[in-house]
Amino acid sequence: MIMIDLHTHTTYSDGTGSVPENIAAAEQKGLRLLGISDHIHYLTPKSLNRYVREIRQWSESAELVVLAGVEANIMHGGVDITTDIAKKLDYVIASVHLWVETPEEHVELVKLALQDENVDIIGHFGASFPYTGYPSEEGLREILELAEANGKAFEISSRYKVPELDFIRACIKRGIKLTFASDAHWPRSVGNVSWSEKVFRKAGGTKEDLFFGELL
Ligand SMILES: [Zn+2]
Ligand SMILES: [Zn+2]
Repeated sequence: MIMIDLHTHTTYSDGTGSVPENIAAAEQKGLRLLGISDHIHYLTPKSLNRYVREIRQWSESAELVVLAGVEANIMHGGVDITTDIAKKLDYVIASVHLWVETPEEHVELVKLALQDENVDIIGHFGASFPYTGYPSEEGLREILELAEANGKAFEISSRYKVPELDFIRACIKRGIKLTFASDAHWPRSVGNVSWSEKVFRKAGGTKEDLFFGELL
């Protein structure tokens, strides 16, 4: 089992658990790597500093590697993250949370994030496709090409059960890194990444295909 979870929320945004509670839950489940990734729009400059400091402090006594990230929003004008903020963090997830009408709109938004130097990982890619329909093969190819060229990773979300297996296979083929994500908003859901691991294995993924794989 590859036990990693790079997408969890705490009371710093809309999660119900504290930083130490998420870490304790991750330890209990035997995780090797935990990322805390609260929604960026809940954080002020002051609380962001406290957030990073608290994660760093608790990680010192933790039985696993704990990283400080955020989940930023991909808006029509780009991703709501600045270089100053990104520099304080270990990684940045960018996700579409806007209501989109068409799959093309989703693809265009994700393309913005793939060209943003402050973004490392695309969050729950395709979560809206069951409602809007699936993008064209050409649209998906453009996404893959941009991710490959710019060194961006995709998370495999156990919460939304995305991306599709074929997309994950295409990522591995191109050397695009992947991560596992519970998107937990409660400590008890931290480390719920069995779907992520299952499709990753099915797609032929190995440790070398994981973002932060060098830390495992
Ligand atoms: Zn999200
Ligand atoms: Zn989230």
